[in-house]
Amino acid sequence: MNYAVVLAGGKGQRFGNGKVSKQFIELTGVPMIVYALQTAEKNQHIDEVCIVVSEKEEENVRNWIRQYGIKKVKFFARPGKERQRSVYNGLQEIPAKARDTVMIMTAVCPFVSQRTIDKHYEMIKEYDATITVVKATDAITFSNDGKRVNRTLQKKKLYLQQGPQVFRYGTLLLGHKMYMEDEEYSKTDVTEDSELVLNIGVECYMVLGDRFCIKVTYPEDLAIAESLHPLFAEQEKRYDNEQDHR
Ligand code: C5P
Repeated sequence: MNYAVVLAGGKGQRFGNGKVSKQFIELTGVPMIVYALQTAEKNQHIDEVCIVVSEKEEENVRNWIRQYGIKKVKFFARPGKERQRSVYNGLQEIPAKARDTVMIMTAVCPFVSQRTIDKHYEMIKEYDATITVVKATDAITFSNDGKRVNRTLQKKKLYLQQGPQVFRYGTLLLGHKMYMEDEEYSKTDVTEDSELVLNIGVECYMVLGDRFCIKVTYPEDLAIAESLHPLFAEQEKRYDNEQDHR
């Protein structure tokens, strides 16, 4: 079985919208989380979906699931304080076996292409952990204190992580457990699942995504997403046609 966990448990503080968390804000008239749910619904590989969302928001999400005809959502989990804890709670909720796969998606990345997801399922046949990346186009500077530059990293070898990520269930669960059980390591701020699996010695491979997959973090990202939407829809239509003619 191939499961997907859709993270929608954040408060979106950087978005600065007091009442509605950014994952529920409308994008072209549709609540943002619905994009991730429709993407999972459409993908031929994904069997069942778990949504990580607060108790307060669950009813709204259930209404949208009905309204948009989403059928694959079978489980709900509650968010943790940190993103990693939300992922872990989602993993606890799905009845997966060790060799099953789990795709981690976020409700704030509305434009994940079907091609990217299909590439993941090709790769995961061979590997236990695959993440989506795009090549960095800007230089990245590392600073310990936010003031002084410690290192400027070589652009040629840098990739930006996007969603989604796909893991063997047992691998990701072990990564999380080892993190939580290690007194020192668990005090460090780990925000990516890839880091947790690398820590247990599992190789993690990259799937090249595309530049449509922006993460809506700040208000201006919403304006960018609105303008990308028609172009993304065209790309997806072209991919559908390619698949039909195979
Ligand atoms: O905070 P950030 O933008 O990295 O959040 C990425 C995704 O993780 C969002 O969809 C957010 O709702 C989710 N999240 C969560 N639980 C948290 C923090 C973030 O489900 N504690």
